[in-house]
Amino acid sequence: MEKKKTGVCPVAGKCGGCRYTDTPYKKQLKIKQERVENLLKEYGRVKSIIGMEEPAHYRNKVHAVFAFQKGKGVVSGIYQEKSHRVVAVEGCLLENGKAGEIIGSVRELAKSFKIKAYDEDSGYGLLRHVLVRVGHATGEIMVVLVLGSPILPSKKNFIRELCKLHPEITTILINVNNKKTSMVLGDREQVIYGKGYIEDVLCGKRFKISAKSFYQVNAVQTETLYRKAAQYAKLTGKETVVDAYCGIGTIGLSVAERAKKVIGVELNKDAVRDAVVNAKSNGAKNVDFYQNDAGRFLTQMAEAGEKVDVVFMDPPRSGSKKEFLDALIRISPKRIVYISCEPETLARDLQYLTKNSGYRMEEATPVDMFPFTEGIESIVLLSKLHTKQNIEVELEMSEMDLTAAESKATYEEIKDYVLEHTGLKVSSLYIAQVKQKCGIIERANYNLPKSEKSRQPKCSLEKELLIEDALRHFKMI
Ligand code: SAH
Repeated sequence: MEKKKTGVCPVAGKCGGCRYTDTPYKKQLKIKQERVENLLKEYGRVKSIIGMEEPAHYRNKVHAVFAFQKGKGVVSGIYQEKSHRVVAVEGCLLENGKAGEIIGSVRELAKSFKIKAYDEDSGYGLLRHVLVRVGHATGEIMVVLVLGSPILPSKKNFIRELCKLHPEITTILINVNNKKTSMVLGDREQVIYGKGYIEDVLCGKRFKISAKSFYQVNAVQTETLYRKAAQYAKLTGKETVVDAYCGIGTIGLSVAERAKKVIGVELNKDAVRDAVVNAKSNGAKNVDFYQNDAGRFLTQMAEAGEKVDVVFMDPPRSGSKKEFLDALIRISPKRIVYISCEPETLARDLQYLTKNSGYRMEEATPVDMFPFTEGIESIVLLSKLHTKQNIEVELEMSEMDLTAAESKATYEEIKDYVLEHTGLKVSSLYIAQVKQKCGIIERANYNLPKSEKSRQPKCSLEKELLIEDALRHFKMI
């Protein structure tokens, strides 16, 4: 007998972290694509969303809250949506598996060490939250025990037991949070094992990550996102670049070798401290980081008449404030690369930038950083109108033969579309062959073999049909 389908997560209904546990991944991507298109299409072209090959267990930062529940004792889990009721979670589709196991061990050790879960209402008890961060490339693991008061009884034994169960843990911290707040971490922090931070490698650069610093939760897609950011920025080595809302400096440092100077600005003190260390350890001498409000900082730059060629901006969900956008317009960089985790505020800021200044959205690409959830990351390239940069559309050599009749989608877009929808790769040559068949390449000499005798691979019927699908999608046929 067929088992009743209950979905992939037993607490999906209560948790609220995921939206799409029962939705096939391709469908999720389609929903997100449509949402971004609806919001951004009036500003310019929206490319196909870049999805993940393996979308589960991508979160490298995992948090659990502890509570006491009758009959169960200490449970770990997440707050039920829009409440402070704890839903016990044993395993999660989004989270790094190892982090989930460590949380389970902390919970069981708390029971055997008779450590009580903190009660938010009474302030009684000790163990409040646990935060686990995993370095995707390095495998380093940080465990932060968030306690209601600073003393962990039998601390040494607790550490020993936890590390015995999970030798891959590289550092453990105690963070004290005794406030009535929905923030996980409090101000006081104490390293009780290891170096107090983890490192990870992203785009070939090594980054120090502290407990409180922002670090993208999906390392695989972050690399994709940053590659796109670098592609949009079109740096030649001569540019002065601002990395606004820079966190621990990941974007700025990943492009530093291709710029003359990088200036990073970030509000969070710990993140800036990490960014400075990261610049040093990666040997980046042309990068400076400042701790400041990005809007205030940019306004000061504008008032000082500083010249900036490219601005990367990666604000929090609320988007950028008017002060920042006004200063941006005054500074007038050639290109703005806007990275956003909230399409609504992105659209709002795009409206401001395109209506109040000479900027135009050249292109937007959604990147799926948060599979199974409603979260959508997008990256947008804005260029100044009436300048040469405005027409700097990236062209491959093979595309130089394009004629006006086929200007709808680039070869890359067609390749991306086919890959996203079928998992198959198609070459520019095959696309050209199909376009020719469909009568949308006028230049007869496109991609002809070098000599009469040389043979060119020919597109299979299967791929031909897939490419035709893509051409239809882009309304080219
Ligand atoms: N670009 C980084 C961080 C992006 S998250 C990365 O990719 O990892 C957004 C960052 O903006 C966070 O680090 C947050 O601390 C910072 N931030 C929030 N408000 C800010 C403000 N008003 N000024 C400067 N930085 C701010």
